[in-house]
Amino acid sequence: MENQIKNIVIVGGGTAGWMVASRLAAKHQSQPQANISITLIESASVKPVGVGEGTWPSMRNTLKSIGISEAEFIIECDATFKQGSKFNGWLTGEKSDSFYHPFELPQDFANCNLLPHWQAVGQSLSFSNAVSFQQKLCEQGLAPKQITTPEYASVANYGYHLNAAKFATLLQKHCLKKFSIKHLVDDVIKVNSAQNGDIASVTTKVNGDISGDLFIDCSGFASILLGGHYKVPFIEQHDTLFVDHALAVQLPYQDEQSPIATTTQSTAMPAGWIWDIGLQSRRGIGYVYSSRHTSEIEAEAQLMNYLGKDSAQVDIKKIKIKAGHRAHPWEKNCIAIGLSAGFLEPLEASSLVQVELSAEWLCDQLPATRSTMDIIAKRFNEAFTYRWARIIDFLKLHYVLSKRTDNEFWLENRQPESIPESLQESLALWQHHYPWHHDSERSNEIFSSASYQYILAGMGFNTQSKHLSSNEENALAMKNFTRNQAVTTKYLQHLPQHRQLLAQIRQYGLAPMKTG
Ligand SMILES: Cc1cc2nc3c(=O)[nH]c(=O)nc-3n(C[C@H](O)[C@H](O)[C@H](O)COP(=O)(O)OP(=O)(O)OC[C@H]3O[C@@H](n4cnc5c(N)ncnc54)[C@H](O)[C@@H]3O)c2cc1C
Repeated sequence: MENQIKNIVIVGGGTAGWMVASRLAAKHQSQPQANISITLIESASVKPVGVGEGTWPSMRNTLKSIGISEAEFIIECDATFKQGSKFNGWLTGEKSDSFYHPFELPQDFANCNLLPHWQAVGQSLSFSNAVSFQQKLCEQGLAPKQITTPEYASVANYGYHLNAAKFATLLQKHCLKKFSIKHLVDDVIKVNSAQNGDIASVTTKVNGDISGDLFIDCSGFASILLGGHYKVPFIEQHDTLFVDHALAVQLPYQDEQSPIATTTQSTAMPAGWIWDIGLQSRRGIGYVYSSRHTSEIEAEAQLMNYLGKDSAQVDIKKIKIKAGHRAHPWEKNCIAIGLSAGFLEPLEASSLVQVELSAEWLCDQLPATRSTMDIIAKRFNEAFTYRWARIIDFLKLHYVLSKRTDNEFWLENRQPESIPESLQESLALWQHHYPWHHDSERSNEIFSSASYQYILAGMGFNTQSKHLSSNEENALAMKNFTRNQAVTTKYLQHLPQHRQLLAQIRQYGLAPMKTG
């Protein structure tokens, strides 16, 4: 076939590069007659960013699809189970101010919108406690499954917390053992164009020119193909999402039996927020802050204050964040995936999931020939431009709903000129209409309307609807509230402590997935 896409070149060996390589290989090299070759080039001198420890439940599917055993992943990556996020101090900053965004959907979410009914019945429980059993599991430090639950199956929906450096290493090891991937440790120093404007090859320091039909830019913030070569504009988002620096530390547990949190703890600070992620052997903690609203010295002092008496032992890694994304991720025969396509900030862990969705799309729609590539590129660009806008709205929502007044950071976050029009429109709509399926109509939304409900209800946003529910709707809602309490009681009795399950997995592994 003419112009067939056979040679794929990936530039970058961070999490994005290896995740894309493994998904492509698992799908497109599985048949003996497959003739797709994959080359991955990574620099020895430019290290992967080495952060990014919170994932979405989609990671289970990604790992399963590339054939990594869940037990192996948990052991090798120091991984733990993540059941959502807990937000501390985001609304007022008072001690009692916290809410959950669990991964479990509200009870019967497909058929019944519980938000209006929760608002109507007096709210003796938080929304997340009234509609989902997962908050209680998190509060009691319970795991989302039992040792007898097969690999990747769940009792409660979960993603992971993981050691980012170990994860990239595991993906690399797995790829090189299981798939046929040419791995070059080398620096790309030049990009060479074909007559039609495609990339014909990249020149490397040691291995010379590497040609390809499709180039995947996974070169991190450097974005050497999409940004450097094609100069696709970078759309900055600092006027909307203010944080631009991170101070990251790793902290050992005080003792070997300390409980391991099963949510990402996100604690609001005067000029940003602190993430706190529990792995098996240590915690990963970082203050993401806006340098317009605090100095590095102040931010460091606040981080040390958060760490308390443990602060003496830590080394601080400083990372600059340029919030934004390229105008489009696919240009000619080059597609950017990962940080090379953009990054906003770590809130709600939206980055690795974008890598997963991009890789999944590419695997599914891998252009067969050069002539179909432009059509696929157009659709990919449309889908991911929409995704960036949706993620920006969702992240900004957390800041907009805050009532904190302790720093200009929080006050400026509520200034209308910093709020995207699309979010302003949704907020105006939700004054009188409860968010539900109409608010997330596309398949594969990263943040569905359930996520919006958890944040809106958690941060005290009240909808004043003019419409009344029918008797049938009221009855179904009451049934679902009751069912949720029954399920909560049952799971609290049967699920193990998080640390206990992780120790059992290390000892016995997990039962294989059921097939067929
Ligand atoms: C502070 C912070 C916190 C984050 N937290 C989260 C989180 O909780 N959850 C989440 O999902 N995401 C998070 N992220 C994002 C996450 O870290 C990234 O999505 C993920 O690590 C993927 O990075 P990458 O592979 O695109 O880039 P990198 O890890 O930077 O890898 C880039 C690769 O390109 C190679 N390279 C660069 N230049 C060249 C060259 N000239 N020649 C050859 N190779 C080259 C490098 O050697 C490296 O292998 C966070 C990011 C930051 C900054």
